[in-house]
Amino acid sequence: MELTIKNISLFLGENLEYIDKGYIIIKNGRIENIGSGDNKGSSNENTYEGKGILVMPGFVNAHTHIGDSIGKDIGVDSTFDSRIHPIHGIKNKILQKSERKHLINFMRSSVISMMRKGIVAFADFREGGLQGIKQITEATSGLSIKCIRLGRPEYYYDVSQDFYLNPKFPPDVIELIYNILNIADGLGISGANENTDNSLKEYRRIIQKKSLKKKFLLGIHASESLETEKKSITATGKSEVQRIVDNLLPNFIVHLTNASDVDIKLVARKKIGIVVCPRANGTLGVGIPKIAKMLSFGCCIAIGTDNIMINSPDMFRELDYVWKLSRTLEGSPISAREILKMATVNGGKILGINSGSLMAGMSADMIFIDKTNLDISPMHDPHVSIVHRANANSILNVMINGKFVDGDEFCCM
Ligand SMILES: [Zn+2]
Repeated sequence: MELTIKNISLFLGENLEYIDKGYIIIKNGRIENIGSGDNKGSSNENTYEGKGILVMPGFVNAHTHIGDSIGKDIGVDSTFDSRIHPIHGIKNKILQKSERKHLINFMRSSVISMMRKGIVAFADFREGGLQGIKQITEATSGLSIKCIRLGRPEYYYDVSQDFYLNPKFPPDVIELIYNILNIADGLGISGANENTDNSLKEYRRIIQKKSLKKKFLLGIHASESLETEKKSITATGKSEVQRIVDNLLPNFIVHLTNASDVDIKLVARKKIGIVVCPRANGTLGVGIPKIAKMLSFGCCIAIGTDNIMINSPDMFRELDYVWKLSRTLEGSPISAREILKMATVNGGKILGINSGSLMAGMSADMIFIDKTNLDISPMHDPHVSIVHRANANSILNVMINGKFVDGDEFCCM
């Protein structure tokens, strides 16, 4: 089935170039052709008028934990560790004590909420071992959003106690990691402080072995708070990033909120992607990632909304927060277009998915924005408009894999 939309405004290609009047042809779930002006060669019975509409790439939410959707704002004034530590945090207790069906229902609600706000793909760090992956698979069943499920075995070391003995994973944990990768898309590891050098190396070895047949992703948190960074240096003499680069070499690192310039440069040199979560960092009061600096060092940066427990999965709000913070706090403000790339193009690249930009051959994953919407009209600077004025009300429709996601998909249960 082929669909043509003419006279439509676009954010075209990886540079999100604004085209005031263009066309887009969609065929078999992909963008067949796209460009400025008229496409004279194409005419089919499914040709629509796009006047008054701006089509932009769908958002890629590059880091979430939707598993804690049931725990919104619990313990809001507790300390960082007491909220989200993987073993003794409030979050873990909630996940342990809640009924499976309730967990899944609220996870599904979060996913539908993301789709309504233009998110076409997300990468979730899923706790709970094999059961965790099964839950998120059930929570997203029948929904067209692209869900990248990154699991973990829930087996943690404490770097303060285990670093020098440097134990390896027991055989049953290694078997569990393989079993997780039989049904997941990769691994989302808690952090370097919950691992020995040998366990980090083991994750790497297993991913490399499994990736001979199919690509798997490897992600890890690092330098989220000053406390985690201090713990690493005290226990090992190295920063979290140094240990991760030496032993794990992941596809991407989440946070780096309190990373040193030396560490950020190291990440750039190793071509490891960065996923920042500025609003989640704000809720926890752990600092603000130095995004302008990361860009100046040549890092590829994407944005995630992190735990539902502490932050809403809304990329529009994330864009607004980053733009204003960068203008307030960092010497050289980041352009709205660059920030928009972090929420779309860069997320697609870091996660290795065929989504995040409007180009021929890409999956037809896009947001149709109403240019006449009260909040954004008249749109004098389209990139700035989207970054700090647009919201879910500005969306006319969302398309994933060439199909509009409305009707049944937007109903909860
Ligand atoms: Zn996280």
